[in-house]
Amino acid sequence: MTSRHPWLRRASVTAVSAAALVAMAAPADATTSTSTTTTSTSTATAARTTTPATGISTAATTAASTATAADVDYATWQKDCQAVMDQALPYLKQRIAATRPGEKQAIVFDIDNTTLETDFGFSYPQPANRPVLEAARYAQDRGVAVFFVTARPGIIYSATDHNLRHVGYKVSGLYVRGFLDLFKNVADYKTAQRVDIESKGYTIIANIGNSATDLSGGHAERTFKLPDYDGQLS
Ligand SMILES: [Mg+2]
Repeated sequence: MTSRHPWLRRASVTAVSAAALVAMAAPADATTSTSTTTTSTSTATAARTTTPATGISTAATTAASTATAADVDYATWQKDCQAVMDQALPYLKQRIAATRPGEKQAIVFDIDNTTLETDFGFSYPQPANRPVLEAARYAQDRGVAVFFVTARPGIIYSATDHNLRHVGYKVSGLYVRGFLDLFKNVADYKTAQRVDIESKGYTIIANIGNSATDLSGGHAERTFKLPDYDGQLS
């Protein structure tokens, strides 16, 4: 399977940037929202608690991966992602089934190495991260709004939007960083986008990402953390 190397990331980013220019040149094809974190790897162990204030069942899972990013291969990454989503999907099924009258549910996803195989998908469009797409499809097919909040810059908005739709995500909203956002702390920027989604009347039932900065700051009922191997996957 694919092994991840630093040059691959650089090449991947270059490919996305080049694709962005192509996409912008062809607009007809490029169409244009109390927190608990679950992390897991194939060797993870979980401890389940309940938050008294909300009654929401929560799971705090301690990752115990021995893999280092330099030698993480595709199979290991997929196995680790699947382990997290094996906890996320049952929660989503239960929470969606318990939709309250008038409630507009939403899920927030990070993009790179969460919804797309950024550091492993040496192509454009980049392939979907399958375990995550499976959960997104379950939710979006039942009317849950799917929002994407990314640190990607606005210049590749169209290419990113096209990529997500091409691989099967229904994009209710895509938040990319504008010029001024580039000077903000990433976690603060991402939190502000969730506040904006909530201001539109949505209840964010889950926030799913692979970096700590995707998930800190609250404004989601549950968070699920995919692996980033000590920050080495964007
Ligand atoms: Mg990411």
